[in-house]
Amino acid sequence: MSDQAPASGVERYVEQAEAFLAEQSAYRDEMRSLHFDTIAVHGMYSVEAALSGGQGGIIEPIFPSTSQAYRDSDEMEAGLSYQIPTWCYSRIHNPTVYYLEETLALLETYGTDIEAAGLCTSSGMAAIKQAVEPLLAQRNGRSEPINFVSSAHVYGGTFQLFGVRMAERGAEVRWVAEPGNAEAWEPLVDEHTRFIYAEMPSNPQQSCSDIAALADLAHSHNIPLLVDATIATPALLRPLEHGADIVLHSLTKTIGSSGATVGGAIIARTDLPCRFLDAEPKSDYATWLKLWPFRDSGPCMSANSAFALLSDLRLLRLKVEWMSDNTTRVAEYLADHPKVASVDYLGLPGHPLHELASRYMKLVDTDRPMFGHLMSFTVRGEAADARRFFDGLRRIFRATDLGRVKSVATIPAISTHQQQGEEGRELAGIPMTMVRLCVGAEHPDDVIADLDQALAGV
Ligand code: PLP
Repeated sequence: MSDQAPASGVERYVEQAEAFLAEQSAYRDEMRSLHFDTIAVHGMYSVEAALSGGQGGIIEPIFPSTSQAYRDSDEMEAGLSYQIPTWCYSRIHNPTVYYLEETLALLETYGTDIEAAGLCTSSGMAAIKQAVEPLLAQRNGRSEPINFVSSAHVYGGTFQLFGVRMAERGAEVRWVAEPGNAEAWEPLVDEHTRFIYAEMPSNPQQSCSDIAALADLAHSHNIPLLVDATIATPALLRPLEHGADIVLHSLTKTIGSSGATVGGAIIARTDLPCRFLDAEPKSDYATWLKLWPFRDSGPCMSANSAFALLSDLRLLRLKVEWMSDNTTRVAEYLADHPKVASVDYLGLPGHPLHELASRYMKLVDTDRPMFGHLMSFTVRGEAADARRFFDGLRRIFRATDLGRVKSVATIPAISTHQQQGEEGRELAGIPMTMVRLCVGAEHPDDVIADLDQALAGV
């Protein structure tokens, strides 16, 4: 017989939580040994979870409740002091969102022994803002110069966040105009640089970076490398395995391909290399963000959004493969068209970054280079010609959207990249004649037929 008194009060709940956490950890290890598609379909929602808490439902339940009830004051104290896993209140956390976060962390670390945690947010921009803000904070009441080094080839909202909003707070962004050239980054990093940031592949111009070289550069300064991999998704690129530290997603896009949900995610490795953070945030950045800064700002994802995104995620690899193959067909067609001046798609062998992209972007579980659904091209002539072509599209939607199962096109200079002005567009390489096209899951011949009739009208 044990001479230890049975645990009471808060301790009792902490002990129960330890047993629960051990079970979760064992199940996570089991899932990590399975294939990508199996993880995308099942995530952390096990048969046991379904039969115990989910009424036997075979898909993750939606928990719309704003708040969690506790058995007694001891459990409440244990929960609110974060001594036990808890969700407390949906601004802090939510059980349905948990399933999505865990699945994304499993997919981003697929095939490796990297430990990482995920945090879902209300949008992709919220994810980027939440991820960079603590890295840019002044420390210990000091007022020191702060900068960060970023590819200039980033989504327009990110360009604005970095160049305007972060500048308002005294953080200087140092743009890299040629992000595919690893040597262009180093001279911009100094002792005040807080992190390095890249988007791969970038939107709308198809740029990519040598992630391993950037990770080496960042780590030689003991700062993290952040990569927005929205367009690639973990089906084509998992930046953590190449040395990146934090992966960002607009889940609104390719992962949420049916187009019904806005959301974002941060997936961060544990033991973040970062000399500007204290021990706790460094040890598990995504979880720390969730428990502290995130609850103070409130950019949470709803349970309904998490549920819709989990449903979209299950067939991720199949969708990305089909849409990438369609995009290659369409890019080849456009490259041969006399009214098209240039085509920017990493999948075309003549693209200057094709070799670099082929090293990093491969269909998961294969050696097949694959480049996703995003491409852009310029219409020969003036801005008015591009607009005439654009207005002539009949089946392809004119919308500032991407990653859909439906093909969607936009003119970035008048939409996504309008707010950054002419100078900013020049830096980012966005002419008025550029059309961004995201090829969906329709039959590629029908997409080509629509482009063909619209080009005939120019
Ligand atoms: N990152 C990339 C690459 C994007 O394309 C977008 C949006 O288009 C974002 C981030 C921002 O995501 P959201 O619209 O979900 O805020």
